[in-house]
Amino acid sequence: MSVIPGAWRRTAAGAGLLAADGAVSPTIFAEMSALAAETGAINLGQGFPDEDGPVEVIEAARRAIADGVNQYPPGRGTPDLRAAISEHQKRFYGLDVDPVTEVLVTVGATEALTATLLALIDGPDDEVVVFEPYYDSYAAAVALAGGTLRTVPLQAPDFQPDLDRLADAVTDRTRIILVNDPHNPTGSVFGREVLSEVVRLAHRHDAVIVTDEVYEHLAFHAPHTPIATLPGAAERTLTISSAGKTFSATGWKIGWLHGPAELVTAVVTVKQFLTYVGGSPFQPAVAVGLRLGDAFFADAAATLARKHELLGSGLRAAGFTVYTPQGGYFTLADASGIGGADGVAFCRSLPQRVGVGAIPLAAFLSPERRGEPASSGIVRFAACKKVSVLEEAVSRLASLRG
Ligand code: PMP
Ligand code: GLN
Repeated sequence: MSVIPGAWRRTAAGAGLLAADGAVSPTIFAEMSALAAETGAINLGQGFPDEDGPVEVIEAARRAIADGVNQYPPGRGTPDLRAAISEHQKRFYGLDVDPVTEVLVTVGATEALTATLLALIDGPDDEVVVFEPYYDSYAAAVALAGGTLRTVPLQAPDFQPDLDRLADAVTDRTRIILVNDPHNPTGSVFGREVLSEVVRLAHRHDAVIVTDEVYEHLAFHAPHTPIATLPGAAERTLTISSAGKTFSATGWKIGWLHGPAELVTAVVTVKQFLTYVGGSPFQPAVAVGLRLGDAFFADAAATLARKHELLGSGLRAAGFTVYTPQGGYFTLADASGIGGADGVAFCRSLPQRVGVGAIPLAAFLSPERRGEPASSGIVRFAACKKVSVLEEAVSRLASLRG
């Protein structure tokens, strides 16, 4: 066994990053993508599009590289991208954001989240309330920051939280209420009453709201309301987003956050020692993207909604119980009725059996909740693929019905 420093080992184990033999475990996304690649399966597991985003955006990145925009950008991001983020927040949501003091460009939403948790969490007495299931990096980043995770369940069929359970979870120990809206993996879009309750509780217990809105432009069956637009919210909210989903450029890893200047400064302090900066030629390209006309953004949501319909009806025909999402890349479906009561085993065998990859919901649950009968057969399929690819995937899945 390799020798690894004790402190690192403890932290990694807390974050669920170590397997029983002490080896570093890959993320579920990496594991399932590797399995899909090995078997030649259609990968509806990890959420990434199989087509490029808008040509103007791609062209702007190409031009930036050719023009020599290849050295370190400013620590908080290029002034033009920060201006574009500020304009975008005003244009879509009416939010006033100062591009100089209230915006930070990060290496994807992932870095924005991790840097925020490292900046604001002091130790195990600081609690972070998250909605479960949750995106896998949340629990890992809370563990890396040494904080304590408190979860509020989102249950089928609508995956909206119970407000009493939310109120029970938030206490004076709560440092952060972490919202993800639209939500990965459930596809729920939080209603106004949920968002208002988060704001009320954050005030009452003096907590910071951190909101991950990477699917902000991909809400199709319910309107997306950024929590920072609610009365009394902006003063204690860090809003996080990313170019990855909106511009189909998940590999560029350009993300950002905005919020009150002193909170942003705290995050910059950590971020400068994580990556310092990143993606200089992609920053001007993302600025071009954020300034595209309204039609682009409306079309992105409408196109994705049609893909979900195609995927959902194929899954239903194959015998799954489908939970139609309101937004985001993913459709959840229960495979219990077709022999998939153990979603983890089902996803491990699916590429070999029918040539399709998916992710078990268990990957987004805390260890205590994995295997609960109500959710253990639920698996996640990505709809952000070409129509022809989805058609082929659903025709392969049809064979599950036998
Ligand atoms: N948050 C959520 C909810 C996500 O689904 C993802 C990735 N798909 C991220 C954060 C990470 O975003 P990025 O790739 O910009 O780091
Ligand atoms: N966010 C992507 C998903 O949920 C995966 C990103 C990753 O692999 N870290 O599928």
